[in-house]
Amino acid sequence: MTTLSDIISFESLNPGRSRDWSCAQDLCLTCANCSGACPVAGVDDFDPRKVVRMVAMGMTDQVAAERWPWICTMCGKCEQVCPMGIAIPDLMRRIRSLRSRDKIPGILQGGLDNALRTGNNLALPREDFVFILEDVGGEIAEEEGFETFMVPIDKQGANILTTIHNKLVNTHTEDLKHWWKIFHAAGEDWTVASDNWEGTSWGYFTGDDEAMKTMAGRIVENMRRLKAKTLLWPE
Ligand code: SF4
Ligand code: SF4
Repeated sequence: MTTLSDIISFESLNPGRSRDWSCAQDLCLTCANCSGACPVAGVDDFDPRKVVRMVAMGMTDQVAAERWPWICTMCGKCEQVCPMGIAIPDLMRRIRSLRSRDKIPGILQGGLDNALRTGNNLALPREDFVFILEDVGGEIAEEEGFETFMVPIDKQGANILTTIHNKLVNTHTEDLKHWWKIFHAAGEDWTVASDNWEGTSWGYFTGDDEAMKTMAGRIVENMRRLKAKTLLWPE
């Protein structure tokens, strides 16, 4: 007969590691509401209830080695239906933080390293960034009704400072136009910083709180430097 000790190596359990986590995982009732709400439950056997239970039991090393925490989109649907208020997306981030940084899947860590080193995930030099913005701005100015349009880069005292998602200066420059045309039509007083403009913090996805703090701090510094009144951080 299969016993629990055949399935779980009790020596490997590490309940102390998650004891300080404020995700309330120990309160789980095993009701499976989270599993029912999760849009990716079932992908590669991922199940949020299973992950919560593993953490509550101290199986942090095992779950950190799995792909499951990286399948989670951190949409938060599970959290909304959990009767015990368990912070499941936060739990997933805590598990991700246990991964060695050289084992982070995909391009996330490379982009984050770029952002910490250069101020954006693409490691795009300042002059290239400014060239792209001005080029896109020039295309808008060729359109009827937008003849006076200019991109206000590093404008002092603007009402809005907006961050930019790296893909908008890479593969989706048309999307920049949608934002900027709305600003223009609304008569908005806005600006964009020429450094540390990255609005996508992959520290969020990799469970790296220190990286998130660094990048958020740079945006705050841009607000101070440019004396902007309102931050628009679409990501
Ligand atoms: S946050 Fe993650 S676990 Fe929760 S519902 Fe969304 S994808 Fe599923
Ligand atoms: S919804 Fe909450 S209480 Fe129910 S199984 Fe999921 S984590 Fe546990």
